[in-house]
Amino acid sequence: MKKVEAINFLYVLVLSTTVFLIFTYKELTETKSPGGRMRLLWNWRSVQESYHLAVYPCIESFRVRAHLPVIYVVTPTYPRPTQIPELVRLAQTLMTVPNLFWIVAEDAPILNPRVASYLDGTGICHAYLAAPMPESYRGELKTPRGVSNRRAGMDWIRKHVTEGVMYFADDDNTYHLDVFEEMRWTKKVSMWPVGLVTHLGVSSPVVIDGRVIGFYDGWIEGRKFPVDMAGFAVGIPFFLSKVDAEMPYRAGFEEDGFLRSLEISVDDVEPKADNCTKIYVWHTRTQKATPAPKIATNITHFTDSNLSALEKELFLETSESAFH
Ligand code: UDP
Ligand code: MN
Repeated sequence: MKKVEAINFLYVLVLSTTVFLIFTYKELTETKSPGGRMRLLWNWRSVQESYHLAVYPCIESFRVRAHLPVIYVVTPTYPRPTQIPELVRLAQTLMTVPNLFWIVAEDAPILNPRVASYLDGTGICHAYLAAPMPESYRGELKTPRGVSNRRAGMDWIRKHVTEGVMYFADDDNTYHLDVFEEMRWTKKVSMWPVGLVTHLGVSSPVVIDGRVIGFYDGWIEGRKFPVDMAGFAVGIPFFLSKVDAEMPYRAGFEEDGFLRSLEISVDDVEPKADNCTKIYVWHTRTQKATPAPKIATNITHFTDSNLSALEKELFLETSESAFH
């Protein structure tokens, strides 16, 4: 009799544990956001509350360095032949940065399964969102590139995060690891020089005696903060306190508009990188590549060759229309 009871008990235990795990997994992997459809590796807040769910290798790295503020890197990206190589280059930089969460936001109506599976394979804690640029801006002469997706990244942060630092990292720039340690302890807004911006070759705050007194940039154009997107970071508690802060859909004025919406003065800016004497990030640009034509795998000597598999790796001429 005792044996039967024990078996029944075990049976109920296994069943309820399975049901619990299925529901927890669903809860941790799916969330909806106003910024568009998205896929999450997990919900960060749930992770903080339940470290015992150490099923993802990146959770471990968060735990062991719990004393370090988390850097939330928001990367706008869009479908094109150079997208995966850009993301590979950036991921291999971010992989080595402790306590970093990567929000990759795609300027497309749907998520790209290849990007999703690449991101999963990096082991970097991440969220992957789809946030297409509104159609009304697409036809403009100068489109506000990367704005819809950065805004979706900010929406995500407002919903899921209370601490840490936010940084907008375009997918094509070059980042020295030190730039992340410079920004990690930002209170309000920190800034540093960015190389290869305009004909001057650099954009930087001008600093005297540890205080920002102005800006050196090749394109001032009435901007209060003539800086590059890669040249500043924002403390998340401060960002959350500015409920109306937003990035405008205005080409060339995205940084200035956003920084103004944070209601800061130049005196609030925290100069980093040895009082802005070092360059740790560059506004590099990748040469455009045209989409590849389909491979004619029906030609006799190509049949059953590697080429049909290889074609799946390519960004094809026809695939562009699927996104834009
Ligand atoms: N971007 C985007 N949609 C676009 C064009 C660009 O999301 O239609 C992203 C791009 O991946 C990059 C950022 O926005 O992370 C800035 O774009 P880009 O590098 O083309 O601008 P630039 O640096 O030349 O000003
Ligand atoms: Mn760029």
